[in-house]
Amino acid sequence: TDAAGSAETDATGLRTPIVAVLGHVDHGKTTLLDTVRGSAVQEGEAGAITQHIGATAVPLDTIGEMAGSLVDPDDFDLPGLLFIDTPGHHSFSTLRSRGGALADIAVLVVDVNDGFQPQTLEALDILKRTETPFVVAANKVDTVPGWNPQGHVPIQQSIDAQSDRAEGDLNDRLYGIIGEMSDNGFSSDMYWRVQDFRANIGVVPVSAKTGEGIPDLLTVLMGLSQRYLKEDMSVDVAGPGAGTVLEVKEERGFGTTIDIVLYDGTISADDTVVVGGKNEPIVTEVRALLQPRPLAEIRTEKQFEKVDSVAAATGIKVAAPDLDDAMAGAPVRVVRDRPVEEVIEAVEAELSQIDVETADN
Ligand code: GDP
Repeated sequence: TDAAGSAETDATGLRTPIVAVLGHVDHGKTTLLDTVRGSAVQEGEAGAITQHIGATAVPLDTIGEMAGSLVDPDDFDLPGLLFIDTPGHHSFSTLRSRGGALADIAVLVVDVNDGFQPQTLEALDILKRTETPFVVAANKVDTVPGWNPQGHVPIQQSIDAQSDRAEGDLNDRLYGIIGEMSDNGFSSDMYWRVQDFRANIGVVPVSAKTGEGIPDLLTVLMGLSQRYLKEDMSVDVAGPGAGTVLEVKEERGFGTTIDIVLYDGTISADDTVVVGGKNEPIVTEVRALLQPRPLAEIRTEKQFEKVDSVAAATGIKVAAPDLDDAMAGAPVRVVRDRPVEEVIEAVEAELSQIDVETADN
């Protein structure tokens, strides 16, 4: 497979940053994820975007095509972005990796009409506590009175096409958001004025509905990752996989399966894995690694296709015996050439850490 092939030639590789989408209910998280998926499908050549289990991968080339002059793919060596499909801070908090947040970066969605709401503040608290870099997507710009929708274009191009009045109205709302950020202890500015995205949070005006500003959002996430996360993205591609359980699911023909996000190394169809369980770590043999079939094939074929091996970062379904007691949020570790006791201990240690942190909340 690709994963194994590249691992032989280049043991250390850069993985895709994992992106989470947070924000208050109805501010547009689900719509934003749908638009990122849909627009990437339109822009990219067939197969450029890959639907993973529980996540959507947007390759750098696709971001480049979408973002036009905003992005020169030569400026980046990270392979793209992996969006976790389940939005919201509940999933963000339960999905952890080695004690930290599973997501490397986040998008905080704020409705420009509604401003900061209770779950916006909760999300900000979580982002602060986990020290997760993030950007603000100031969503629903198309609802500004008199807005003239421009479709899937960079936001400056769209703003240039608006009346002075609509532009002024949008600016008032954006400065409202920047003011609320400041009230909550975050310095922020329009993303095109931000030099240091660690000191100053970028605000990206978008419409998840029309696609305006989506190229900018992807570009900013890519730039932020490249500049500040690159070292963290360096993984041992050939090494034993490490991941987090997204969901435990019954699957016809496979029994209980786990959907995982792999954030390090490789998992193969003949691996032994240790999975965090309700009572104790589960040691089991992978029976199959399953990916969703491309949409075009779904009607005629089975829902999943088997793969031999995948490398981080990726979402994958693992079918294996004895997974009934597996837990969402629990760690998954490939054993490979290590003593299994060592891996069990590592999983136990991580589980106890998760328990402590949940008790704190
Ligand atoms: P979530 O609860 O944060 O996931 O919010 P949803 O994505 O479900 O969106 C809530 C509602 O807002 C839905 O009716 C969406 O169609 C609508 N919505 C989301 N984004 C936009 C946008 O950019 N513009 C407009 N006009 N409506 C939007």
